[in-house]
Amino acid sequence: MTAKARELKELGKSVIALSAGEPDFDTPENVKNAGIDAIRSGKTKYTPVPGIAPLLKVIQEKFECENNLHYEINQITTACGAKQILFNALFATLDPGDEVIIPAPCWVSYPDMVRLAGGSPVIISCSEADGFKLTPEAFEKHITPRTRWLMLNSPSNPTGAVYSAEELRALAEVLRNHSHVMVLADDIYEKLVYDEAKFATIAAVAPWVYDRTLTVNGVSKANAMTGWRLGYGAGPADLIKAMNTIQGQTASHTSSISQYAAVEAIGGDQSYLPGFIKQYEARRDLVVRKLNEAYGLRCTAPDGAFYVFASCEGLIGRRTPAGQIIRTDEDVAMFLLEDAGVAVVPGSGFLMSPYFRISYASSEAELTEGCDRIIAACQALV
Ligand code: PLP
Repeated sequence: MTAKARELKELGKSVIALSAGEPDFDTPENVKNAGIDAIRSGKTKYTPVPGIAPLLKVIQEKFECENNLHYEINQITTACGAKQILFNALFATLDPGDEVIIPAPCWVSYPDMVRLAGGSPVIISCSEADGFKLTPEAFEKHITPRTRWLMLNSPSNPTGAVYSAEELRALAEVLRNHSHVMVLADDIYEKLVYDEAKFATIAAVAPWVYDRTLTVNGVSKANAMTGWRLGYGAGPADLIKAMNTIQGQTASHTSSISQYAAVEAIGGDQSYLPGFIKQYEARRDLVVRKLNEAYGLRCTAPDGAFYVFASCEGLIGRRTPAGQIIRTDEDVAMFLLEDAGVAVVPGSGFLMSPYFRISYASSEAELTEGCDRIIAACQALV
């Protein structure tokens, strides 16, 4: 989709990209300044593999104050994004044939990361009726002696679904009978939660799984720092040690400059956050209202992240003005790109069809224009 959108842009067509998974906001000034200060003061050398001491300290304090989770410093590590933390964990633990349970819809990278690390993804489809969330019954049914990990992502990419503390506790109850299964809690969208929804993380609300949970987070989404590549994870000391061993022979560590900037992002002034959240919430409401006006589309207001996952079932079987029949959500996405000049991501990419994902990490003007184009395009289908 991205390649096709670029191609159309190069041909001079106006394309509104609502496909990117990153904030449109600029990195906050105090964080940028911390990075600049690091460069100017020569903090540009190799660092320890897990990260610089002040960074590990602010992460430890963050977990303590915000999540009620206590980790010793040797239980924490940092990497080039939450992505590398997840990869290091999988790479450190999976043997060929090991299974990783992934509730779908899921972030596109999870199954491929598992395969790259030699494991087998076990995908569980979580229906819209269940809020796109994993139920304890479905979870238990898919556990085998080869299950190594459950990958949980809340708030979710692509659905924005947020697991409540009770829902997490119910999943953790299942784990009481399966001591060989560990949990990867991908909390990267933690701060982006709206309305009455409350963020919770499994190691905190179900202490009996604390010893087998890797809690993953980062500065990309909340602090608008995708390009700085800074993620972190905390969990059992022996797992962290194994992850550091792998990282020591691959990336070594993320950029020293990013680490100093992240000390400020995590431990410094974050008064910009409520403003970000307010804007995301208003944009979410705008997109949900408009998409529900469109012929054949349907969506509910998600509780978190910055995505709307819309059903396009009502468009399947329709004919485009050019005479092509729409059979899949990929056809829908291609039609919206070619006829309306709006880039979205088809649900198939997240292993759930027929849906598409819109990212509302774009300006209200762009979102309004993009949604109006979608409404007009859907209207033109016969
Ligand atoms: N986890 C999820 C669910 C994501 O959507 C993303 C990025 O899109 C990441 C992890 C990776 O974040 P980072 O930029 O910290 O690597």
